[in-house]
Amino acid sequence: MIPDKPAPKGGPNRFPPQWSVLLWYLPLMIFLLWMWQQAFSSMNVRTIPYSEFKTQVRQGQVVEATVRNDTIEGRIDPHAATSGNQSNATAAGGGDKPYLFRTVRVEDPKLVEDLEAAHVKFVGMRPGFMSQFLFAWLLPIAFIFLLWGFISRRMSSGAGSSILSFGKSRARLVAEKETGITFNDVAGCDEAKYELQEVVDFLKNPDRYRSLGAKIPKGVLLVGPPGTGKTLLAKAVAGEAQVPFFSISGSDFVEMFVGVGAARVRDLFVQAKAQAPCIVFIDELDAIGRERGVHVGPVNDEREQTLNALLVEMDGFAPNAGVILLAATNRPEVLDRALLRPGRFDRQVIVDAPDIDGRQAILRVHTRTVPLDDDVDLRRIARATPGFSGADLANAVNEAALLAARRRGRVIHQHDLEEAIEKVVAGPERKSRRLTEEIKRRVAYHEVGHALVAAYSKHADPVHKISIIPRGRAALGYTMQLPAEDQYLMTRSELVDRIRSALGGRAAEEVVYGEVTTGAENDLERVTVLARQMICLFGMNEKLGLAHSALRQGIYFHGADGTFQRDCSEKTAEEIDREVKNLLADTYREACEILLQHRDQLEAVSAELLKRESMDGHTFREMIGLAPHDALAEPAPANGEIVIRP
Ligand code: ADP
Ligand code: MG
Ligand code: ZN
Repeated sequence: MIPDKPAPKGGPNRFPPQWSVLLWYLPLMIFLLWMWQQAFSSMNVRTIPYSEFKTQVRQGQVVEATVRNDTIEGRIDPHAATSGNQSNATAAGGGDKPYLFRTVRVEDPKLVEDLEAAHVKFVGMRPGFMSQFLFAWLLPIAFIFLLWGFISRRMSSGAGSSILSFGKSRARLVAEKETGITFNDVAGCDEAKYELQEVVDFLKNPDRYRSLGAKIPKGVLLVGPPGTGKTLLAKAVAGEAQVPFFSISGSDFVEMFVGVGAARVRDLFVQAKAQAPCIVFIDELDAIGRERGVHVGPVNDEREQTLNALLVEMDGFAPNAGVILLAATNRPEVLDRALLRPGRFDRQVIVDAPDIDGRQAILRVHTRTVPLDDDVDLRRIARATPGFSGADLANAVNEAALLAARRRGRVIHQHDLEEAIEKVVAGPERKSRRLTEEIKRRVAYHEVGHALVAAYSKHADPVHKISIIPRGRAALGYTMQLPAEDQYLMTRSELVDRIRSALGGRAAEEVVYGEVTTGAENDLERVTVLARQMICLFGMNEKLGLAHSALRQGIYFHGADGTFQRDCSEKTAEEIDREVKNLLADTYREACEILLQHRDQLEAVSAELLKRESMDGHTFREMIGLAPHDALAEPAPANGEIVIRP
């Protein structure tokens, strides 16, 4: 739906990969071989029963015979009959032209006598193995090889320089003269584009830089979470500069054969220098660039060799040789420091998740080629998608187009886009899941519990939608909250309010039924993580003080799902557990109080939700008599997280 890449201009310079050629080549050749052997073995040869053969001999119609170990072959000429019963022979032979025959030999001691009696010219023969083998197999196979060689030569010459075979290392090295992608296809990362513009400038007019003695960075590292457009940006640089673009993935270097990865690196640079000016792009650099000496094992040795080769090669070419190395990673913290020192990847460009303007721009890029209805408001969509990456947005637009196609629409409406976003966030609807009225009522109370507690907590994210339609990720129902403002920082009250509204679901079950269900497991898991973070990482507990008592593992960007490892004494750990429990118990009690206080609203909204199955934030706030929230008007959050509470 969304064209990732406009078709390359200037004819089809992209060939199907080799295996697709193989796909039709192999069956064709097998068929030809079969045909050949059929023709070879049964050229006008009729297989006749032995009894008929004997009859023909007696009638004198057999002219020649070759007696082999287990077959007799020869020629039958119906006109050669010596006796008078020709019509009989014609009927048996099925025609009156001479023909070749073959019959399976039967144990028949009098055969020679009979043949002599009928004056048949006959020879005995052992199977001519060599000649048969030569004709039936060797010749056609040689032919097949010749043809294959011809085709593959044609392919590689036809593809010109776009498929450079990579010698003994068969890495996927693609040099594309035009990637067909420009900076116009990348939106929402203006700082990154600005930094890269310099690289483009240099590739276009290297002399201007050389005359000033300015050195352009050899390597630029694009750093950012997955799906934010790093690969796209690298292609856009090549597209803007109109230079060849060598793309290789870090994992292509890593192989179990010693030295292969290092050889590939060297080959890559040989190729690149021959094509300068050009761009070499190493995607997923962390696959080879990990810190050395941390792990042991054969795979790791191999990787270190590869990394060493890369470091050596990066030092080995002059700064202004015209080869610019771009690399992308989403895990810069694991990279070897030698890679990042000046003279190597000395410039780092952060490609972060887009803010609201960025998201709007990305949506505009991806809706360029799809028919949009007039009612579509991309700003609203951008506001409803905090935390979405460029890839998520592209996916959402595509989902919307699919939805529109499914309802046989001709344009995409706003509600298609909204539905698509919900699908991306919470998974597809599970229409087949039938719930009994009783379960639905419980789910409704649970979700309205979340919503009400959030609405009556001053700092909680405003409710965007409540639904009791089962979806992929939210098993039975969900409450969706959208942040009201930037979430670069969160205060303690905001975190506590977040915990409280997450506990609202379970609180509602207890308030209404006096008994709880298993439905709150996910809520409990999240609040526990959050409470533990507050205490261990953010120093938000008086008893435990400011000590940082856990280590985060491998999250560089403010992701929500970081795991962490205890980094404190046994005794402190016990205390942490106790404090987590206290914090959760306190907030849970508050949640119950809020719901008891607004018991009538809990009933009313739940009843309404049962009727409608889903309710948007406006309706909800209206029902409980609150003013519409600011979050639904500008200014919108630039950064944050959509919270889905199952
Ligand atoms: P990554 O950062 O993981 O390399 P990609 O560059 O592969 O991400 O992006 C995947 C897809 O997402 C792109 O092909 C494009 O369709 C879309 N996309 C991501 N970021 C952007 C952006 N900033 N502008 C436009 N499209 C984007
Ligand atoms: Mg990528
Ligand atoms: Zn819940």
